[in-house]
Amino acid sequence: MNRLYFDTAATTALDSQVLDAMLPYLQSKFGNPSSIYSYGRETRLAIENARKSVARLLNAHPSEIIFTSGGTESSNTAIFGAVRDLGCTHIITSPIEHHATLHTVEYLDKRDEVTVSYVNILPNGHTDLKHLEQLLQEAAPAKTLVTLMHANNEIGNITDLHAVGEICKQFQAIFHSDTVQTVGHFPFDLRNTPVHFITGSAHKFHGPKGAGLLYVNENVQIQSFLHGGGQERNMRAGTENVYGIVGFAKALELASANYETDSSYIRSVKLYLAEQLQQHIPAVTFNGDSFGNSNYTVLNVSFPKSEKSEMLLMNLDMNGICASGGSACTSGAQQGSHVIRAINNNPNQVAVRFSFCRHNTREEVDQLVEKLKVLI
Ligand code: PLP
Repeated sequence: MNRLYFDTAATTALDSQVLDAMLPYLQSKFGNPSSIYSYGRETRLAIENARKSVARLLNAHPSEIIFTSGGTESSNTAIFGAVRDLGCTHIITSPIEHHATLHTVEYLDKRDEVTVSYVNILPNGHTDLKHLEQLLQEAAPAKTLVTLMHANNEIGNITDLHAVGEICKQFQAIFHSDTVQTVGHFPFDLRNTPVHFITGSAHKFHGPKGAGLLYVNENVQIQSFLHGGGQERNMRAGTENVYGIVGFAKALELASANYETDSSYIRSVKLYLAEQLQQHIPAVTFNGDSFGNSNYTVLNVSFPKSEKSEMLLMNLDMNGICASGGSACTSGAQQGSHVIRAINNNPNQVAVRFSFCRHNTREEVDQLVEKLKVLI
């Protein structure tokens, strides 16, 4: 069966040029980067070149870049670091963060290491920044960590990092942003962005799974989350995932070279799907600020609930269409999405996230809409 993949916010296919860059480090160049002889020196050099390239592309300093196993580890490291090393006793987050953030914050809350408050989400899915200010005022004088994601993985809404960062500055708060859905999708200028920590994950932009990024601004110092060897300048113990790191840097390099053409093409695919759905499926609605401040890769759609549409995700799968009802981590469990619950708790609708990359075409969208006409 011909499969149609509309779930790029969950993961993307590895680019063949990225694979080519990685292969030598899976085969001939297998040395441990901590070894002092030539095999080790060549893999050490590959890691440091990757770090320099990533730092240059994000306009950061190489010493601010730590390679990790992915977005989840990066956010855990930043949040634990802010609490245990930077003295944050209060955390402000939102109810629509990814579980990598929410469950980490809940863990620290349960252990009484922090108190937590949740910023209000407006009906269009954006963070209420006035409420954020109010929460920061109320939290003072406690040292506070604000952790708010850049683009929501389920509805695509984009939060203005500069606006949040400036508010955090007023209250001397630490600011962490989960940028997993935007690194590799938007240009970053970290030297001129008021943020202490951001995260990235290579598999969201045609890089390998299990390769992540943590940016730690040079003005803050945290301890390693993993204890052991002195890798990553004592910031992340364990033998480095050399091919993953090389793949991360290559994927970011390719993404950066093609930002403009890729983003305008992908946006056109998203808008085409929205237009076709409006034309052909009665009573369809969109969750979040889909046509405003929104990621060009994500369209979250609510269909009217019926006996047929209740089984929509399963029926889509049976028809070879890959899309998701929540974040990839929970969609298998079919618990419904905490994000959709927070912004549009309508029991008469079924929400499905479609997400796109440069490989998706209008013809695929046409095929998807034809199937949806039958399945709804
Ligand atoms: N944060 C967001 C917004 C995500 O979409 C994901 C991926 O599902 C993660 C964090 C976790 O990233 P990783 O899969 O690299 O651990």
